Amino acid sequence: MDCAPPDSKNVIWFDGYITRAERETLHGHQGAVIWFTGLSASGKSTIAHYLEKMLYRRGCSTYSFDGDNVRHGLCRDLGFCPEDRQENIRRIGEMARLFVDAGIIAITAFISPYRADREVVRKLVGEERFFEIYVQCPVEVCAKRDPKGLYQRAMAGVIKEFTGVSAPYEPPESPCLVIHSEAVTPVEAAEEVIEVLNRAGIVCR
Ligand code: ADP
Repeated sequence: MDCAPPDSKNVIWFDGYITRAERETLHGHQGAVIWFTGLSASGKSTIAHYLEKMLYRRGCSTYSFDGDNVRHGLCRDLGFCPEDRQENIRRIGEMARLFVDAGIIAITAFISPYRADREVVRKLVGEERFFEIYVQCPVEVCAKRDPKGLYQRAMAGVIKEFTGVSAPYEPPESPCLVIHSEAVTPVEAAEEVIEVLNRAGIVCR
């Protein structure tokens, strides 16, 4: 059986009869990707879930993508070497793009350590709908929080290629927001994000 990808000439994109603008009118806000990036335990998931709750209360249609959840299904065949991390982010980016097309606010919480991979998603989604948010937190603080015991295992050499310990993290060069999670509560951080979305016209006050 031939399992090679089909010739792209034979695979034709179909736009459907409902436009993104029409879906956005139905939702009462625009579709967007809120892309949290930062070290493990910097607070991405915690802030993402508060943000989702706050947006939900405002009547927004949202969906949160969590790193571990995605690795249970869509990306379960991928590991943590640079190539697999790149493919992980590419798949998530494609998925997020479909959510934006559906007029939904997609919230993602992935370490996504490589700048180039995040740029691929930015291009896929489009500059105006891609909100890169850097959750900045010193690695020593993250290692002390260590909610899943991962730093301890990484420092003992049990987990290989762990970001911040034995694998690199490339901070964003011009994120739309930097959250210093050492200095603000998760709720304050989520409020900062909502302010950014308000200013960009993604949601109305
Ligand atoms: P990540 O998704 O970046 O791996 P998590 O959100 O899973 O990080 O874990 C962050 C940990 O840090 C949680 O246990 C959370 O309660 C704690 N924490 C302490 N202060 C903050 C803060 N200001 N923002 C986010 N998380 C915080």
